[in-house]
Amino acid sequence: MIIGIPKEIKNNESRVGMTPAGVFELTKYGHNVLIQSTAGDGSGFFDADYLHAGATIVNTIEEVYAASDMIVKVKEPIAREYGLIQKDQVVFTYFHFASSEPLTKAMIESKSVCIAYETVEDDEGTLPLLTPMSEVAGRMAIQQGAKYLEKPVKGRGVLLGGVPGVQPGKVLVLGAGVVGIQAAKMAAGLGAHVTIMDINMKRLRYVNDVMPPHVVTEFSNEYNIRKHIKTHDLIIGGVLLKGAKAPNLITREMLKEMRPGTVIVDVAVDQGGCVETTKPTTHEDPVYIIDDVVHYSVANMPGAVPYTSTVALTNVTLPYVVKLANQGWEKATVNDATLHKGLNIVKGEVVYKEIIEAFGWES
Ligand code: NAD
Repeated sequence: MIIGIPKEIKNNESRVGMTPAGVFELTKYGHNVLIQSTAGDGSGFFDADYLHAGATIVNTIEEVYAASDMIVKVKEPIAREYGLIQKDQVVFTYFHFASSEPLTKAMIESKSVCIAYETVEDDEGTLPLLTPMSEVAGRMAIQQGAKYLEKPVKGRGVLLGGVPGVQPGKVLVLGAGVVGIQAAKMAAGLGAHVTIMDINMKRLRYVNDVMPPHVVTEFSNEYNIRKHIKTHDLIIGGVLLKGAKAPNLITREMLKEMRPGTVIVDVAVDQGGCVETTKPTTHEDPVYIIDDVVHYSVANMPGAVPYTSTVALTNVTLPYVVKLANQGWEKATVNDATLHKGLNIVKGEVVYKEIIEAFGWES
């Protein structure tokens, strides 16, 4: 099979759909990998690395789409790419169809086979191709929070780890899922005092078992949140209600209870955020201040660390790419129930019912 890796052209996207290690693996099975020249530059993988791994480099995005049986990328195709996608071509990437009707219609029209990373789901209900990005964002949340706690950027002027004779900073983590646990781990590693809250007792028990004693758990309810926001320096929003908007756990009025310079990193911004005053920001202009509280709410946090994010993403996508290439999409999705959940649009037909529901279309 010919597998094509185009350069990502969405604004500010430096990740790439495959590392040289992925190319090496696919060529071992006799597949051909076509990669657009400079596609990996932003992630620190250069044409020479891909050539060495066995890829063929082509100059234009048009050549990649025209010659490939399967396209592997990172972000959903943007309007400029719609017309490049071929009938019967497999496109394996993040799509997030429910948030874009034009994209959905374009992919229906293309008669391609769209397999979406974000809906690949195992029998425990976890989303293996989303998890690594939550891991990146959770860990990064502490790095960013620590930076914005500094005085020159209007933070409280607190060093998270403290120093001998001075108490460490206090970090409140809302949600003990993937983001929350990674954030708690990083904060604990810096020596901060960490409180992590969830409504799921199983998650809290797990955290309690695996984390060091300066990470404490508390059940998430309004009373407890109101108590903690007064004393914590950095607040991480990592809650998720599957398929729904994030709950507003911190209201605008509650900001007045916080000390000036408190920092909120609302990772859940892509689901609307768990803080009433959250609005999406970008890496160019990541923070804003309301009532002396610093808000960081970048919607694509992993985009700032493309090397780590590309490797983390392709580590989990590659086994599925290999299956799709070796067996063809029809057999691969029948043989693997987890991958089957990724099928969203097949040759003009929407097969993932949440997309139909999202647009109120008749099924
Ligand atoms: P997850 O499902 O692993 O964890 C979410 C946790 O929130 C669960 O444990 C759940 O029980 C808990 N929760 C639900 N309601 C709660 C409440 N009222 N109080 C406290 N906890 C509550 O999800 P995740 O992978 O950790 O993702 C968290 C959020 O981060 C999602 O919205 C995800 O889309 C987002 N995210 C954003 C970025 C970014 O770049 N901004 C990157 C990755 C993930």
